Amino acid sequence: MTRRLTLTFDNGPVPGITETVLDVLRERGLTATFFVVGTDLQKPGRRDLVAQARAEGHRVGNHTMTHSVLLGRTDDPAAPEKEIVASQHLLRDLASEERFFRPWGGGGVLGPHLLSPRAVQTLERGGYSLVLWNSVPRDWEDAIGWPARARADIDRQGWTVIVLHDNSPAVAQLAGFLDAVIADGVEIRSDFPDECVPIRRGVRTGSLDGLVSV
Ligand SMILES: [Zn+2]
Repeated sequence: MTRRLTLTFDNGPVPGITETVLDVLRERGLTATFFVVGTDLQKPGRRDLVAQARAEGHRVGNHTMTHSVLLGRTDDPAAPEKEIVASQHLLRDLASEERFFRPWGGGGVLGPHLLSPRAVQTLERGGYSLVLWNSVPRDWEDAIGWPARARADIDRQGWTVIVLHDNSPAVAQLAGFLDAVIADGVEIRSDFPDECVPIRRGVRTGSLDGLVSV
């Protein structure tokens, strides 16, 4: 069975790091999805980098406004509006036509802290696609060792959606990692498997069991 890999980069762009990611991807003819934090977009140089990513064929999604509110834990009823809708608004034309949203997981952990019923309603009504993941090699903690964990994830499942970060020195390993997986016959794609996108364009297509607070 062909193993598949979809690349995602969260928490950027960061000048001096994202350029490296874009270079590495361009040289290999690959595209990825970049999940951007709203407050970061307001810093100097960030919008230009996101625009460059779009111009080079990458997809751009919404990774919350502040990257600090667990939508399944907060008591603020306006949190989905602030963390999802306002951030999408800030992205404006930089965002892909399909409204990709990735919640903040507090370290990449899937669980009921990710979403509230109200947040799910916001995603459904707003026509968002909820993009989760099935590989978090913790590149931000281990800039050298993450590719080995990523390879293990790719080898144990048919289609891996990997969370990497273009705000970390770990990107120095990206070219070597990609060359190795390509040489190993892994198919690198831009789209996402159903199991990682339980809401597509506002329509519930998969299970949200264990991902929504009660
Ligand atoms: Zn993040």
